[in-house]
Formats: sequence, structure tokens, C-alpha cells
Amino acid sequence: MPIYLDHAATTPLRREALDAMLPLLSDDFGNPSSVHSYGRRARAALDEAREVVARHLIAEQREIVFTAGGTEAINLAIKGAAWAGKARGHRLVTSAVEHHAVLHSMRNLEKFGFELVVLPVDRYGRVDVDQLDAAINDRTILVSLMLANNEVGTIQAVRDLVKRIRAHRNVLIHLDAVQAAPYMAIDVQQLDVDLLSIAGHKLEGPKGIGALYVRHGTILLPQINGGTQERYRRAGTENVAGAVGMAVALDLAVSERSEVAPRLAARRDVLRDRLLGPGVELTGHARRRLPGHLSVICRDVDGDALVRALDLEGIAVSTGSACTTGSTEPSHVLTALGYPEEEARGSLRITLGRTTTDAEVQQAASIIPQVIERIRAAGGAAARDPLGSRVD
Ligand code: PLP
Repeated sequence: MPIYLDHAATTPLRREALDAMLPLLSDDFGNPSSVHSYGRRARAALDEAREVVARHLIAEQREIVFTAGGTEAINLAIKGAAWAGKARGHRLVTSAVEHHAVLHSMRNLEKFGFELVVLPVDRYGRVDVDQLDAAINDRTILVSLMLANNEVGTIQAVRDLVKRIRAHRNVLIHLDAVQAAPYMAIDVQQLDVDLLSIAGHKLEGPKGIGALYVRHGTILLPQINGGTQERYRRAGTENVAGAVGMAVALDLAVSERSEVAPRLAARRDVLRDRLLGPGVELTGHARRRLPGHLSVICRDVDGDALVRALDLEGIAVSTGSACTTGSTEPSHVLTALGYPEEEARGSLRITLGRTTTDAEVQQAASIIPQVIERIRAAGGAAARDPLGSRVD
């Protein structure tokens, strides 16, 4: 099996989550809205999953809305809050390094007359508190920020940012905790946010399930209309097996976090120390970053070619966000961090997970620098030889 070092894109479904899901995909297949025993069993499983998710976010059960993933949770948070808050104002504030689920939701609202302020970030991807403060006026209804960045791993100083937002009245705060949830404590009370998104597949749960925390009393305009499910906030028959799988995975991630996070950080540092050097530099913050996350820029190397060459060597990594793979545009995150296009094209993201072994890290640490060197040499040879020489 190839070595999987792309856990920020998605994680393998863990056995315990799969085991908990299987009965709901077979004998206990009922619709939670049905009154008979099949329905009641499905309802009980869904209620229990909601209780677990709520408990780990320090929320109430009624504050959890299950969605079909992180993107849908974010769309509901942003579009739902914007449309519900239209009478109060029309300004939305976010940062330039947010996931496209946030940025494109907000761009969509712009077409309907909402005003969008996209804040710049520093070299590491952090938002400046004073710039955030200055962007908020009395027409601002929502600020959306991320707890940790998916491309460069930087952890945002949300506590300070939230404090400053709270100095203004009537501004809702949404936090994208999709990447952070497996590794950081997500306490919505301490974070003091109104809306918070997570996704099952980033924490060894299944794909196609996510959750949005909606602080009690926060009004959202539903974005999917139909039945009365999820307290009228998200219509459609619930993905019971998905919710149960995500709840089991979250429960285990929380209980194992204090052991897993330092282990990942130590292994990530082994890789970092082997990779960084002349022509290979770290992107994102050196210390305030997710534990298993390593992102670099390799000068004079095309990131896509590198990822393909590593794949042939049995190592699965990425250039950045899986959602923009195949795009010809350089990463909007690296551009926002101030990297010129030609440098941003040399990006490489290596993300470890709970199941990554020491042997895998050692093997990756010996192969990746060799492949970078080989591609660089081939690129140099190609530049000297206009007829071109193949990369491998
Ligand atoms: N937000 C962040 C920070 C992400 O990394 C991702 C996924 O890559 C998402 C949102 C979207 O989540 P999903 O893939 O579950 O739609």
C-alpha cells in the first residue's frame, strides 16, 4: 500500500466508526421520522449521535444540525445567517485564506447585494486584530474565520479576534473548525462563537456528513427546503449511519487527542528537519500550526510534477487543497501569504494522521528529498536543453 500522507484532504474511516455504522446500513435501516419500531431505532441512534457531538463541542443537542459535510455546514452558516440578518445589515467579513466553501458562499451573496470585506493576512496566514476591527461597521452581520488553515496549517489567534468582534453589537461569528477538530479542543463556550462547522471525514469518520453548531437563539434561513428535519434548519431524511460514524470518530479523537497530537508533531518535525534546507522553505507558522501538518515551497520545482513523481514512488501527498487540485490557478492561500505565483507553484503539503507509523515517516523522509532533487535537476537540464528531457 502506498504511504498515505494526505490526511488534510481526507482520513481513512476508522474501524470503530465503521462497526457502529454497519447495523444502520443493514437491519436498522429505518427512517428516524417513522413512528414504528424501525423508525424509533433509527431515531434513538441519531439522538445519541447528536448527544455525543453536542457534548464534545460543549453545546446543547438542539444546537447541533447534521449536514452532508463541511461545505454544506458552512453554506448553511453563511448564507443562512446572511439572509436571516438582512434586515440588520448587509456587510460580511472574512479572510483571504478561508476555504472556498466560505469564500465562494460569500461571493455568491455578493451577487445578491451583500457587501464583502476580505481581510488580508500576514506571511503566516494570520488576521490582524486591528484590521478586523476596522472592517466591522454597524451594517456588519457576520464574520467568518477559520480555526486552522487546511493548506498551511496555521492556527488562527481566534480568541483575540473574537474578543474584538464582540466589542461590536449584533455581529454573528462563524468558525470553520473542519481541519482543527481532530486535534484541538472545540469548546463553543470558550471560543464564544455563534456558528461552528465540522466534517466527519477529517477525523476518521465517514464522508458526506458534517455538523453545524448553531447557538440557541441564532436565526438561520434554511438553505435546503422540505420536511421538518433538524428543527426546520436542514430538510431531508437524515444520514443516520453517517451521523453515528462521525460521533464515534469524534468521541475517539477527543479521548485520544492528548496522546495523538504530540506524537504527530514529533513525527512531522522529523520530516520537516529532513526536508527544509536550501530551496525548500516552510509555509505557514513554524509553531502555531496543526500537529501533523507540514507545508513547504520547493523552489524551481513544479508542485504537481512533484506530487505525481512521489505517487510513483508510493507516497501520497498533495500540493495544497484537494478541492483545487487540477486547477491552473495558484493557491489563493499562498498568494494571500505573499508568495509570487512562480513560488506558489512549488508547494507541497504533507499531512500525517493517527495511523501514520514511524517507519512510514522514515521512508518518506528519505524518499521525498531525493525526488525533489531529481525533479529540480531534470528541470535545470530541460532549461539547458531546449529539446527537453523527461522528468523520470
Ligand atoms: N473547511 C476546511 C478548512 C476544509 O479543509 C474543508 C475540506 O477540505 C472544508 C471546509 C470542506 O469540508 P467537506 O470536504 O466536508 O465539504
